[in-house]
Amino acid sequence: MSMEAVIEAYRKRVDTLAESENPYADGIAWVEGELVPLAKARIPLLDQGFMHSDLTYDVPAIWDGRFFRLDDHLDRLERSCAKLRLTSPMDRETLRRTLVEMAAKSGIRDAYVQITVTRGFKFVRAHRPEDIENHIYLLIMPYVWVMAPDVQARGGSAVMTRTVRRIPPGAIDPTVKNLQWGDFVRGIFEARDRGAMYPFLPDGDGNLTEGSGFNIFLVKDGVLHTPARGVLEGVTRRTVVEIAEAKGWTVNIDHVPVDLAYQCDEIFMSTTAGGIMPITELDGVPVGGGQVGPVTRQIWQAYWDLHYDDRMSFAIDYAAA
Ligand SMILES: *Cc1c(COP(=O)(O)O)cnc(C)c1O
Repeated sequence: MSMEAVIEAYRKRVDTLAESENPYADGIAWVEGELVPLAKARIPLLDQGFMHSDLTYDVPAIWDGRFFRLDDHLDRLERSCAKLRLTSPMDRETLRRTLVEMAAKSGIRDAYVQITVTRGFKFVRAHRPEDIENHIYLLIMPYVWVMAPDVQARGGSAVMTRTVRRIPPGAIDPTVKNLQWGDFVRGIFEARDRGAMYPFLPDGDGNLTEGSGFNIFLVKDGVLHTPARGVLEGVTRRTVVEIAEAKGWTVNIDHVPVDLAYQCDEIFMSTTAGGIMPITELDGVPVGGGQVGPVTRQIWQAYWDLHYDDRMSFAIDYAAA
C-alpha cells in the first residue's frame, strides 16, 4: 500500500474509535491484578522502578487489529530482565494472553503497548535480587507517533547534538530498554532550541548512536548504515535490515562516523512508535535533495505491508471480549 493509502485507512479507524463509548477507548492498564482505564492507573510510590528507575520495559504495537512481532518484543524483554536480574512475575503465556485480552476489551485497533518490569518494593542495597518480588505493569493506548504521519510524508528535521552525548554502554547498557532518559531529554531540549524536532546523539568518540527512542539509518550510494554499538537493538531496526536484505541491498551494522550523516543521500529513523520516519533536514541543511528519498520510501511501504504478514503478526479477536 502507498504511504497515502496506509495513512488514510488509519485515519478512518481513528475516527471510528473516537465514536466509541468503551470506557477503555482512551487506554487500559493492568496494575496489581486490576484492569483500569489508563488515566486512572497509579503506581505505588515505593516501587524501586520509580525510586531508582530500577526497571526494564518493552513496547510492541498493534496495527489494524494485529499484534506485530510480539514474540520478538517478549524475547527482548526476557533478555533485558535477565541482564538486570529481574524476573517477570507473569509468565510469558499469561502475559501474551493478558495483552490480547486487554486490547480486545479496549477495542483499540492501533495501539502502543507497554510492558514494564520493575524491581518492586525492596532496594538492592539491602536485599539479594533473588529475594525481591518484582512487579509488572501493562498498558495499552492508542498508537503513538514519534513523528506524525503528515510529517512522515515530507520528512522531519534533526540536529546532531553538541551539548550532550549518548550515555556510554559502560555506564548504562543501551541494549536493555530503559527509562534513564536524562541524555535524551537534554537532546530534545537542544533540538527544540535549535529549531529542529529530533536529537541524534553522538557517542563522544566521533560515532553516531541513536536518538530519543529511535534508531538511525543513513543511506549512502545505496548502502544502509546503522550503528552497532551504544544503541538499543530495535525490533524495527531489525525489520528494516530484513527488508533491505530481501531487496538485495547491503546493510552495514558497524561504527557509523558522525561525519557520514553530513555526506549521505537519505536519513531515516526507526521505532515501533511511528515506524519509518524520514529526516530531510540535518542541522538546518537539507539531506540529499531535501525530499524523502527512494530507499526510505520503499522501506516505509514494505514495513507497513509486513504488518499484514502472518509470519510477523496475528489478528486479535475483538469480538471475543
Ligand atoms: C525503543 C527504543 C528504540 C526503538 O526500538 P524498537 O524496538 O524498534 O521500537 C530505539 N532506541 C531506544 C533508546 C529505544 O528506547
